[in-house]
Amino acid sequence: MAESPLTPPSPPTTGTFESVNPGTGDLIGTFPVHGAADMAAAVDAARIAQQWWWDLGWDERKRRLLAWRSYLRTHMSELADLVHRETGKPMWDAEAVDVITTVLHLDWAAKHAERTLSSHQVSPGILVHLRAEISYEPHGVVGVIGPWNYPLFTPMGSISYALAAGNAVVFKPSEFTPATGVWLAESFRKVVPEQPVLQTLTGYGPTGQALVESGVDKISFTGSAKVAKAIGALCGERMIPYSPEAGGKDAVIVDRDADLTRAVRGALWGGVMNSGQSCAGVERVFVHQDVYEEFLDRLVSSARSLRAGSDPDAHYGPITRPAQYDLVKHHFDQALAAGATIRVGGRESFRRPFIDPVILTDAPDDSVIVQEETFGPLMVVEKVRDADEAISESNAHDYGLGAAVYSRKNGPAIAARLRTGMVSINAVLVQGAVPSLPWGGLGHSGYGRIHGEEGLRAFGRSKSIVHPRFGLPAFADLYSFEVSEQTKSALRWVTKMLFT
Ligand code: NAD
Repeated sequence: MAESPLTPPSPPTTGTFESVNPGTGDLIGTFPVHGAADMAAAVDAARIAQQWWWDLGWDERKRRLLAWRSYLRTHMSELADLVHRETGKPMWDAEAVDVITTVLHLDWAAKHAERTLSSHQVSPGILVHLRAEISYEPHGVVGVIGPWNYPLFTPMGSISYALAAGNAVVFKPSEFTPATGVWLAESFRKVVPEQPVLQTLTGYGPTGQALVESGVDKISFTGSAKVAKAIGALCGERMIPYSPEAGGKDAVIVDRDADLTRAVRGALWGGVMNSGQSCAGVERVFVHQDVYEEFLDRLVSSARSLRAGSDPDAHYGPITRPAQYDLVKHHFDQALAAGATIRVGGRESFRRPFIDPVILTDAPDDSVIVQEETFGPLMVVEKVRDADEAISESNAHDYGLGAAVYSRKNGPAIAARLRTGMVSINAVLVQGAVPSLPWGGLGHSGYGRIHGEEGLRAFGRSKSIVHPRFGLPAFADLYSFEVSEQTKSALRWVTKMLFT
């Protein structure tokens, strides 16, 4: 996949930096650019804290995490307001998608950690005299690196589960949302004041790299595919486990028998909410030829009523990261130059830092808006012959995060053939609010899994323990030199009978 021609300047590695409201330019706070020495000190402290946290045991950890959940819930307005100001997203989006889903996940992780991770018996197979057990021990200190688009929900998909599994966490939030990251660690200290079990260190990319190189025992990263690969290489050198959650180019498939009212509502919300800055946001829509014109007419008329802004009546906010605005504009300009047709919006949609909805058709397959993640409120709609063509178009991409299917009858059959980590049927973007479902993708979207039991296990390393239930006489002990010929023959016979 081609790299964007827009290259950011080298970020500072010392001093301080400011977090500002991207919609209004108001200053939110000034934060240190932490370096390698700060990171090393944080990880050293975290290592001691982790042992203390693990020694608390499952019940006490659960009690503390549920107390933190209650603290987040009671401070929901304050926290949502901070996310709203730091990202520019509307207050309701901050409340619903960031804070409420975070509370759901924290609650779930706290309540399911012991059952999922503590020692449990498994079948010993034909070695019936053995007792076989698996338990999951924490990795130790986990480094979490987060993005800015969901500055609470996204990193907490790692932090909640890592803490519930008994790890200490050092968190490096995005340079665009440091205040939310700092608030998180400060709130955790209200319920765990004894040890720095969760710390937030702020800065740019080099601060994140210092975290990766600091001697942590696992990295959980959410961000772009480009940075995910660079961190993966560093983790590979250190032989530490790594969970990358990267970008996406999610498609919605609208089949001939779709409920078009729901399909339009879902596609539009999934493509435009949060200003299109969702990893699993809708960027491509493939519509069956029989319903294409009607779907497009309805989508166009609904999209025309939406508007970006910072005022309370706006449907969504600004582009949070200034450079992202230029990238989205580049995708739009290149698509037009390549022959795309504008159905909604146009050049007038671009009112830095806001972008009103843009819907395009006829974008050539090799245009950047089809090939790369746009991460803005732009959607490309394409007419397809049938569901088969929609599936192969959707699958013909390096990214494979999520997808949505609208069909009254064929949803499960289409979902089964999509090459993505997640699919929703007659709905969009709902997986994130279901804590028991794993979240993650494939290909350039990464291979990490957060949330659910898989998400808990990702923050523990399995330990297999086996021991005899009773002592065997030497002639029957297969794992000794004293095993008899009769025992060998008996084992041959059992194997033959069982595995014919
Ligand atoms: P980004 O990759 O630019 O930055 C992510 C984080 O990595 C930031 O904290 C940044 O400071 C840090 N970083 C940058 N360079 C680094 C380096 N060399 N070493 C260590 N850390 C480094 O991504 P972004 O712009 O913050 O976020 C947007 C991207 O995140 C989009 O691609 C989006 O799709 C993706 N995302 C994915 C998911 C998911 O669950 N799959 C969720 C949200 C966002």
